[in-house]
Amino acid sequence: MIKMVSKKKYTVNVAYTTPSGRMHVGHGLGHIISDIALRYEALKQKKDTFFGFGIHSTGKDLIKILSELGEEDHLSKKLEHYNISRQKRDEIISQDSLQKQINELVEEYRRQYQGVIEKLGVAMNYDSFFSTHQEANQRYTQWTLRKLAEKGLIIETEADRPYCPKCDDIKHIDKDLSEVSAVGKVDWDRVRIEDGRIIGGDFECKLHSGEKITVKRRKERAINYGDLKMQQKTIELAKRMKVFPKKYKADLESTIATRMTKPFERKVHGNVGAVSPFDPTKSVEALSDSNIYMEFYAVSQLVNQGKLKSENLTDKFFDYIYLGKGNPNLVAEELKISKEILEEAREQVNNTYPVDISVVGFEHLGVHTSFSLFTHAAVLPERYFFPEYIITSHITRDGEKMSKSKGNVVYLDELLELTKRECRIEGLTEDASLDAVRFFLSYYQSLDRDFDWKGENFRSSGINGMSRYVANIAKAANLLNGVEIKALEPMDKWFSTVDQRTVQDITKKMDERDSRSALITLLDIRGRFLSTYLSSSGSNSKILSNFLINQINMGHPVMPRVTDELRNTYFPGLSLEWPSINPEAIFPEEYEIFEHQIKGKNYEKSLSKEVNALLGKMFGRKEISIGENITLVAPTNHQIQVLLKEKTSFSKKLNLNFSIDPQANGIEIRREK
Ligand SMILES: [Zn+2]
Repeated sequence: MIKMVSKKKYTVNVAYTTPSGRMHVGHGLGHIISDIALRYEALKQKKDTFFGFGIHSTGKDLIKILSELGEEDHLSKKLEHYNISRQKRDEIISQDSLQKQINELVEEYRRQYQGVIEKLGVAMNYDSFFSTHQEANQRYTQWTLRKLAEKGLIIETEADRPYCPKCDDIKHIDKDLSEVSAVGKVDWDRVRIEDGRIIGGDFECKLHSGEKITVKRRKERAINYGDLKMQQKTIELAKRMKVFPKKYKADLESTIATRMTKPFERKVHGNVGAVSPFDPTKSVEALSDSNIYMEFYAVSQLVNQGKLKSENLTDKFFDYIYLGKGNPNLVAEELKISKEILEEAREQVNNTYPVDISVVGFEHLGVHTSFSLFTHAAVLPERYFFPEYIITSHITRDGEKMSKSKGNVVYLDELLELTKRECRIEGLTEDASLDAVRFFLSYYQSLDRDFDWKGENFRSSGINGMSRYVANIAKAANLLNGVEIKALEPMDKWFSTVDQRTVQDITKKMDERDSRSALITLLDIRGRFLSTYLSSSGSNSKILSNFLINQINMGHPVMPRVTDELRNTYFPGLSLEWPSINPEAIFPEEYEIFEHQIKGKNYEKSLSKEVNALLGKMFGRKEISIGENITLVAPTNHQIQVLLKEKTSFSKKLNLNFSIDPQANGIEIRREK
């Protein structure tokens, strides 16, 4: 038997979607932010990528959709609302059991979502697909809850709960609105139950519209997210996590510390989801089966390949795979699978996890995120804890919230169609042109503010911006044939320095997940340097092609298809890699000399302005005083020579000395001891 050697993977996860209609631009933003970070890090770290694909079917949504599709009245409106064709609806409804209808409906949404995500160019592992209504995943959910119980984190509580009389079941009220709908305005900071009443807002049952949510005293089994010891452990682990935008890090810790017990069982009837491991008449609700779902994709892949069957997925299997507990020979024998398959599953899980970056929407912070971090800390070994979390902002349209009822939602399939029609870039295939959506969502967004969608901006910044990127490269690459290899002139050294320094800058910005600033440097700043270089006579082919190769490869995370095509056209055979810095290609003196030539008097003025500003600041802070000996340090001789001539404009109150230090980070002022 050939032993499969699989490489360590770089793994990202974005919240899996609920099957309830078409994917909109908000889903697109989450998937694209994840994919850019994934492609960038995997390229830099020379790892394979892993991005799981799943559907969260738990709860009442699917059953509600099926019951609506089952009735003929207003059918065409409902078909449009749920994005299901008449023919597909008939196929689904004609299935002879609810289970089969659910399977068909989930399969239809899987097909639709995969189609859209593929067109977005996301490096997703479609073969890892699972839906939470499937048995394999339900066994995993049951294992998770039994592990929580072993740690004493499942408790019985009696309390007043939000309740729907029609369902005769409790309902969870949270910002996700997964079980209730809000009636009118809700003051989320005040929402709680007091004296047998819900305050802070009015809610109705999501399944029974018009049915007001009341309060009932109930005894329920709950996950104890309020356990102080486990909260402390979770916070300790979360402290080590990188969080972008950084401002959310403190919020995250306080959210974990303020969670309380959460009932997780609902009636089996009318709900999709795993049967509770503690009560066969109950099923697990939607927020409690999605805490560590992202670690299931690697196992799901093996189930889809037919190597594992759902009946193989017992507690002993999961204990061995995730926790390393048990004797593999005995476990394999008991499960009636080969030891090779068991070890392959363990290796797959080891190579795929941790999830290096978890990407969630802002609205998940108070619910899913804190529950997920808590359950990771409680159930899985520390090495599974996320090293990084990215929180995405909301998307509005022309300043307004997007909603189906307002009819202003930007759907991804429509956006991709529009791009196909309007974004025809010479020399690129239609598929590659679709990268304009990725380009726009990265160029135009910033993680720490809401993204406001405007159609005209998509055209001007998205389609035109990407065309400009391609045209700049094509124009310069076509000049490559005419230029010869010769000794480097000062101008070539200037351009080589510019190339290296901007590579450094873009790498830093990508590390900070600031793809907007990275793209501005890539497209606008480097674009200007390139045209200055090309407008001077006689470019050097080696320097120019180095620059262009970097220009293409650094565009890869955002525009994978465009850059693949550019590379194949202009540099066939060249491999894709993230550029590394070559100190020998940086020429500080020549850079300053050439900058001086280009900018003339302005170069001198801005240099002395910089020094005066520095001195002014130091006088202001009383860091220097009249008559003191001060040394002006610059990294290059050229800057010093210019500053010596400009000397008269500086304060006469100081005894100025001048010194070169190649290590200096720009102009520095040092006091003599
Ligand atoms: Zn109800």
